[in-house]
This record gives sequence, C-alpha cells and structure tokens, in this order.
Amino acid sequence: MVGALDEREPVLLEDPIERRYAVREMRVRVHQARFRGRVIPAYQSQCTMCRLKEVRLLDAAHITSDADLLGEPAVPNGLSLCAIHHRAFDQSLVAVTPAYRIAVSPRLLTDEDGPMLTLLQGFDGVEIALPERRSHQPDPKRLARRYEEFLALAEA
Ligand SMILES: [Zn+2]
Repeated sequence: MVGALDEREPVLLEDPIERRYAVREMRVRVHQARFRGRVIPAYQSQCTMCRLKEVRLLDAAHITSDADLLGEPAVPNGLSLCAIHHRAFDQSLVAVTPAYRIAVSPRLLTDEDGPMLTLLQGFDGVEIALPERRSHQPDPKRLARRYEEFLALAEA
C-alpha cells in the first residue's frame, strides 16, 4: 500500500460535462482570488466594520451575489470584512445601510452573552471605513437591496 498515492494517474476528465464544470470551478476560484486581491487593498487592508488589520483574517465579501462570477471582479460590489463580520454579514446578523452605517440585527442586539457579543453590538450605527478611491466605494444601490433583505429577515 505504501506509495499507492504516488502511482495514481493524474485525473483526466474525459466527460465533457465534468470538464466544463471543472473549468467553471477554476474560473470562479480565479475570480474570487482577484476579487480578494482588489477589495482588501481598496480598504487599506482592514475590516470595514471593526478596522481589524490582520490580512489573514480578512475576506472580500460580495454585497449582492455576483451574477457574473466569471467576469471582472467589481470592487463596488465588495466589502473587506474580518472573518466574524463576514459570517455575520452572510447570516444577516449585521448589514451596511446605503448611508454607509453598520446595522446590527435585533437578534444580536437583544441577546446577552458575554464580551464578544457586547463588542459586536457596539458597532450598531457606526460608520464603516470607506476606500479612499471614490470608484472603489460600495455601491449604495446594492447595499440598499441587501439592507432591505436584512430588514425583512429582522421582522420575520
Ligand atoms: Zn470586523
């Protein structure tokens, strides 16, 4: 059994559908890498919400799902977020208003559970850190759409 892995043939994708899928997956990964490579520096390599500057904990989050994941990554559809804020944003526990302020969900605001939660609650109403370049700033229309979803979920 020793060395069995080394003897394995490279995986050849003969099936055209599988091949197309693999190519698409690869393009999506390239897109994500480019997106990250543009969005995070646009925000001076910090979380737009808490200003954390540890790049290894930063993600480029899409504001609205990008219909063109194979195309050019658009910085105005991105936010530089730390891992916890990214997860919270994706779960609609935090949002950004079209006026560039942080909104924390009632679910988090009414909970009582320790120092991390208190810290997260404290960002409610705080202005986000914006990219210096105007053309890199998050698109208010996309933010508005996402914020409406956040409000609808908060009421549910
Ligand atoms: Zn953060």
